[in-house]
Amino acid sequence: MNAKPASALPPLDVERIRADFPLLSRTVHGKPLIYFDNANTGQKPVSVIEAVDRHYRLHNANVARAVHQLGEEATSAYEGARDAMARFIHAPSRDEVILTSGTTQSINLVAYSYALPRLRQGDAILTTVMEHHANIVPWQLVAERSGATVKAAPIDENGELILEKYIEMLTPDVKLACVTHVSNVLGTVNPVREIARECRKRGIPLLVDGSQAAPHRAIDVQALGCDFYAVTGHKMLGPTGTGVLWAKREHLMAMPPFFGGGEMIREVRFDGTVFADPPHRFEAGTPNIAGFAGLTAAIEYIEGIGFERIHAYEQELLAYAMDALESVPGMRIFGRAKEREPVVSFLIEGAHANDMATLLDLQGVAVRSGHHCAHPLMHFFGVPATLRASLAFYNTKAEVDSFIEAIAKVRKLLV
Ligand code: PLP
Repeated sequence: MNAKPASALPPLDVERIRADFPLLSRTVHGKPLIYFDNANTGQKPVSVIEAVDRHYRLHNANVARAVHQLGEEATSAYEGARDAMARFIHAPSRDEVILTSGTTQSINLVAYSYALPRLRQGDAILTTVMEHHANIVPWQLVAERSGATVKAAPIDENGELILEKYIEMLTPDVKLACVTHVSNVLGTVNPVREIARECRKRGIPLLVDGSQAAPHRAIDVQALGCDFYAVTGHKMLGPTGTGVLWAKREHLMAMPPFFGGGEMIREVRFDGTVFADPPHRFEAGTPNIAGFAGLTAAIEYIEGIGFERIHAYEQELLAYAMDALESVPGMRIFGRAKEREPVVSFLIEGAHANDMATLLDLQGVAVRSGHHCAHPLMHFFGVPATLRASLAFYNTKAEVDSFIEAIAKVRKLLV
């Protein structure tokens, strides 16, 4: 990564960047698209689309099976994504990077392969109230099977994790601690380094859900000091059905496979099958090879711009959007954490979130409404749903202005 301070770097040429994303220039209901649903999934630059296309046009074959040229090319595309991801998250070794279909699979892999064999009656898994269901439900499923429980650390009204409480809840019964790096609903950035330090003191492994961090900030799993880190490719410009689980080698070596099948074995015998070493031990079956070719292109695209510039621009855009939203009458914003990524959840008094989202769509604005796969967080705020505007570095202040105008129009119809 470039070590220059953000202020010394040239600002983003957002118009040039937007030209790389074909979908951003389309219209919706006759209006220019304003895509503010990036936390749900991100749009793809041409280089990613072309990498997927090129794979199927020129290199398509299965991985790690054939000695022919195409087989080698497909294998090198797939293994190349592992190298790119190892670099992207600063993993100490490419062999600690498991290629998955996304965060959901990554977390379930840890739940069934790491946690379940270790959990006993009376044990606990610690998570938080602000998690996506993907960082709650897998733990509930393995807790149910083992007699363990799932505890959730509280947050405050600003949508910040109450760190002292989280630490207090790291009691000896906790066999695994979990936390999201960035909240998908509030944009809150959690103090992962501090949490990891406290977990290490107590010998409790820590899993971090990096789904919403990877699109916005440089990840260094070694500096964070966690044990497991999950990423989903489609939120960071990559194709759907791609993701990663990074885990410390000592954990991977001690984990049995979760899925069995081809590619994950050394030798199959009816008197005892020998599994491959990590990472292949956890990658049974034919993977999303073209998708991973695209994920490499996504990583290269982000690296080409650099997170310092992305982050500086997105923070400016977030501050602009927050100011603009605050000026809307009847506005209630959820979450005002000190450190945030560009995700804002809100409601407007007298207007239902789904009605707002439907009418905003008619104005060309794509925002998400609903519970955002975070029921416990909705319960905490005492609402069934919110609207969520989630921004990316290809969004602009002009789009924020049009969004606010669209809200004003819609508000007149509903309130
Ligand atoms: N965790 C967080 C914080 C998310 O925002 C999401 C997706 O919205 C997920 C996990 C699940 O990711 P995926 O559906 O790509 O597996």
